[in-house]
Amino acid sequence: MTETVQSVHASLDLRPGQLFIDGQWLDWDGPRFDQINPNTQQVMGSFPEAGERGVNEAVAAARKAFDEGPWPRMAAQDRKRILQRFIERIYDAEEEIAKLQTLDNGIPYHLSRNTRVSAKATADVMDSYAGWADKITGETYPQFTAASNMQYMSFREPVGVVAAILAWNAPLLMFANKVGPALAAGCTVVVKPSEYTNLSVTRLARIVAESDLPPGVFNLVTGAGATGSALSAHPGVDKVTFTGSPQTGRSILLASGGNMKRLSLELGGKSAGIVFPDTRSLAATATQLMGLCSTFLSGQVCSTPSRALVHRSLLDEFVHHAAEQVKKVKFGNPFESTTTSAPIISRRQVERILGYVESGQQEGATLQFGGDRPGGDLAEGNWINPALFTNVSNQFRVAREEIFGPVLCVIPFDTEEEAVRIANDSEYGLAGCVFTTDVTRALRVARAIRSGSIGINGYASVPNAPMGGVKSSGIGREGGWPSIEAFTELKTVNFNLDA
Ligand code: NAD
Repeated sequence: MTETVQSVHASLDLRPGQLFIDGQWLDWDGPRFDQINPNTQQVMGSFPEAGERGVNEAVAAARKAFDEGPWPRMAAQDRKRILQRFIERIYDAEEEIAKLQTLDNGIPYHLSRNTRVSAKATADVMDSYAGWADKITGETYPQFTAASNMQYMSFREPVGVVAAILAWNAPLLMFANKVGPALAAGCTVVVKPSEYTNLSVTRLARIVAESDLPPGVFNLVTGAGATGSALSAHPGVDKVTFTGSPQTGRSILLASGGNMKRLSLELGGKSAGIVFPDTRSLAATATQLMGLCSTFLSGQVCSTPSRALVHRSLLDEFVHHAAEQVKKVKFGNPFESTTTSAPIISRRQVERILGYVESGQQEGATLQFGGDRPGGDLAEGNWINPALFTNVSNQFRVAREEIFGPVLCVIPFDTEEEAVRIANDSEYGLAGCVFTTDVTRALRVARAIRSGSIGINGYASVPNAPMGGVKSSGIGREGGWPSIEAFTELKTVNFNLDA
């Protein structure tokens, strides 16, 4: 595994990380940090810790480009064409970008290449947003009173300088979901990738940098929390769009108050998958729920239903099918097509998840399997064997807090009302799903769950439908028109027709 990762890394044209500010790649004379591969612990590159100084320069460039430059004032067709031209280049570099994403966060290459987090999906999403550029319209209003002869109309204008702060688990897709609508709306942007996923985002940034965007419209700063914090507090930023943990989301909310920044926060979840006795196939349902926690990103997905609310009559059979699913999990070389699951992003997060496994047992849940680390050749990777807890009370920490790892908690219920009550007894409200063949119940329960989205007999988000959270899962929605709306402000103009 180590040799493969090394040789893929060596085969790509990787330069030491730089900042991209005001149309220039800058060598950085300040502090730097190393990015570590989660499969092998090898160093993948060294990147600038932009800190306050780098952020100040990037925001100043974005501010100038917004206040004085052509981008927000450009004809919509011209703006769209510039976007479409660089999006084509993302399609051309699909394979290389997918490899970089694998080197970044360890997602198996075949999943990095072919799923909804791929470079192709990223380009598709950006293309969809580019298409909005010439469809952003205001309204006119009928005269309200005969006392004045005024015509009222509204214009939808770009919100201004946008700080886009990304999480690590789907870095390409997050880039598309933030930079795509912001640029289409005419904003200027400063992007900060997660400190764990600089390779893939920097490659995307290179494509954007080589486009016909005017200087200062797109800027990239790298760094960890201090850089993100400087960016979200900066008075020159008009809007922060953030994906990450609720804890960081809260600190951004506080830091952004200084100049009343607009905020979109896509945060964590503790979603429920509710399994009724009339689910079409219990084997398929259990496989799906355990699969979401054990394959792909190993449960490190915000919308994963990490609480399985299972009707009491189904418990033993559910556990049996979940155990069968876990037998199909294969860790190892991320460039092998048989590898099913990404490692945990960092050693720190491994320790955190193991702490939850311990806490679940201490509180009285039964660990049916997993929750330990594989040994041998796999010990160098950050894997944790997928864990299933039964006898879980919804009051246990493992049921209340977002673990963000391969841990599924099974909570029994007897009635539909009880299932809904348990699902809603959470500080989160991001997603969820309900498994039943009773269509009336399916819709009734879907409506009763307090969450930003919910699936019936499965769950998959798509980028052209809104996604986001209620309660501690966030503020705002990403996807389709709501995303464009979130990067604009409405201005009302009243026109005195008698003057
Ligand atoms: P994180 O909050 O640790 O980091 C996210 C980003 O914030 C990183 O770029 C980080 O450097 C930056 N950051 C850290 N401290 C900061 C501060 N004080 N001010 C500003 N920026 C700061 O989250 P993570 O571990 O990268 O991602 C996992 C979390 O993201 C999970 O909670 C997951 O549920 C959530 N997530 C949500 C969605 C969604 O669409 N709702 C999607 C993916 C991930």
